[in-house]
Amino acid sequence: MNTITLPTQRAYRIIDHSYDVVVVGAGGSGLRTTLGMGASGLRTACITKVFPTRSHTVAAQGGIAASLGSMGEDHWQWHMYDTIKGSDWLGDQDAIEYLCREAVPSVYELEHMGVPFTRTEDGKIYQRPFGGHMRDFGKEPVQRACAAADRTGHAILHTLYQQSLKHDVEFFVEYFALDLIMNKDGACCGVIAWCLEDGTMHRFNANLVVLATGGYGRAFQSCTSAHTCTGDGSAMVMRADIPTQDMEFVQFHPTGIFPAGCLLTEGCRGEGGYLTNSEGERFMERYAPHAKDLASRDVVSRAMIVEIHEGRGCGPNKDHIMLHLEHLGADILHERLPSIVETSRVFAGIDVTKEPVPVLPTVHYNMGGIPTNIHGEVIRPNSNNLDAIVPGLMAVGEAACVSVHGANRLGTNSLLDLIVFGRAAAKRATEILKPGGFVAPLPKNAGEETLSRFDKLRYANKGTRVAEMRDNLQRTMQRHASVFRNTKSLEEGAQKIKNIWAGLGDISIADHSLIWNTDLMEGLEFENLLANGTVTMLSAGQRQESRGAHAHDDYPERDDKNWLKHTVSYLNNKGEVSFTYRPVHMYTLTDEVQVFPPKKRVY
Ligand SMILES: Cc1cc2nc3c(=O)[nH]c(=O)nc-3n(C[C@H](O)[C@H](O)[C@H](O)COP(=O)(O)OP(=O)(O)OC[C@H]3O[C@@H](n4cnc5c(N)ncnc54)[C@H](O)[C@@H]3O)c2cc1C
Repeated sequence: MNTITLPTQRAYRIIDHSYDVVVVGAGGSGLRTTLGMGASGLRTACITKVFPTRSHTVAAQGGIAASLGSMGEDHWQWHMYDTIKGSDWLGDQDAIEYLCREAVPSVYELEHMGVPFTRTEDGKIYQRPFGGHMRDFGKEPVQRACAAADRTGHAILHTLYQQSLKHDVEFFVEYFALDLIMNKDGACCGVIAWCLEDGTMHRFNANLVVLATGGYGRAFQSCTSAHTCTGDGSAMVMRADIPTQDMEFVQFHPTGIFPAGCLLTEGCRGEGGYLTNSEGERFMERYAPHAKDLASRDVVSRAMIVEIHEGRGCGPNKDHIMLHLEHLGADILHERLPSIVETSRVFAGIDVTKEPVPVLPTVHYNMGGIPTNIHGEVIRPNSNNLDAIVPGLMAVGEAACVSVHGANRLGTNSLLDLIVFGRAAAKRATEILKPGGFVAPLPKNAGEETLSRFDKLRYANKGTRVAEMRDNLQRTMQRHASVFRNTKSLEEGAQKIKNIWAGLGDISIADHSLIWNTDLMEGLEFENLLANGTVTMLSAGQRQESRGAHAHDDYPERDDKNWLKHTVSYLNNKGEVSFTYRPVHMYTLTDEVQVFPPKKRVY
């Protein structure tokens, strides 16, 4: 056992491990990666701060997209077009081609692994319509979302976990990864983690680290994400001076239960549910004459907020919209949307088989994240697209930005992203690594800087509790980086974020224990949320156009001349952000499909 003694003279004992691959995160993306690595014989460890099947993926309801065509004609090229249009042309077309083409074999693979999909009468995988998924290049809704009732994420996550156990991979459960360990050449050679259960510190030395840590929905006050979604992976990357990409694009899901915020899947509208305003009008018919309630999420969320702003919100305060399911009948609802019936009863006190349920757009997904190529390798994007790969580091899932979702993700394309790119990362790893190969030792005193940061926070005993600091950040994000943004509000938001950084010295942690110290863990998570929130607010302040989820009142139009490019942002340890930009990939991987040039986005 090694010991690191800090300048404060406090010492931390370190337990060292060595693996071919370390995966951080055991959600859908982490488990798909771990499974693939294990299956190819690579010595693999998977570190996770919660038990694998408690990862946020378990909450995914509606489905996973793939043009299987179980319920009518469909093609991956149609899916590709919809994803590009959904992304408001910010998605990279080569990556989107890969996503949509690989969707079909990836979902069949899941089926063969044992995912209990709902079935059609003739035994095929059941597929439902979902927002923005259309047939024949945008003509009318298509049934593309493969579903296991309204518990698709649950079904996938449990299957992947069971399959991972079949291989010789080791799980480190309730270990909180603190930081990447980088060597002097800028390559990643491991990660340092804190065991929450017994308080020990661990260094994992590996030839490859894969970040699969999920999104950072919790930077906002009202979100559908689990409490664990605190952007730890992207914050680790930022601390290692690696950029993040497109962080201004935050998806608001139209139907969070009002006011609790928990999700009612878009599958509700896929099954025939619809929205009304205080006049009982199905207002989406005005905003999206073809797709109506199944337009993409940014479009529906904006329409709802406009209805409320114009005085047609429901309830005594005219502050929400109604979602109707009652016309579908109790039998269908209990069969296809059982969790929705239950969630509405518990969180809104409403029986959806009899009456509508109040909803409001709620933060749901982060399109931005750690930039990668289609093999999951982390890149430092460059303005001429000559991207440098960061050796030894990959990122997958919501933590990553490939970019297949661009400025707005289509529903059911995230579960797909986890599976397709988790699989791709494992494939790449088997090409570049030899099982049981030599692992270069860690640099001397690896992790010391991280432990200093950790130790400082552990003994912080000033005036402001973590919960109060976090609340301040969440309110700031909710208010200033919302569905609609404008220059004045974003500037005010940036100033408030600056004040939070300035007040960091005043933080207080309830106790110093290393064992199950949840306040200390929340302190670390707060630092990570702040890093993510800062980059989101400031990147939004830079982008002078409206595209996808970024709706800027002062620049209401999309501006392809100046802004058809990805934001690449670097955060320093003072909370300052610098920006570069890189072009969107306007090319395809193969000749089987042509580039879809930008056009006006109407549904
Ligand atoms: C309520 C809800 C419903 C959704 N429904 C759908 C849907 O129907 N279809 C769809 O396509 N998408 C859906 N999404 C989106 C999709 O589910 C998520 O984007 C996706 O599950 C994220 O998976 P992930 O593997 O990237 O991360 P997660 O599932 O969030 O897992 C993150 C993992 O990282 C670990 N971790 C994080 N930080 C650390 C750390 N510091 N140390 C150690 N471990 C760490 C966690 O323990 C966890 O295991 C939904 C999202 C929500 C919130």
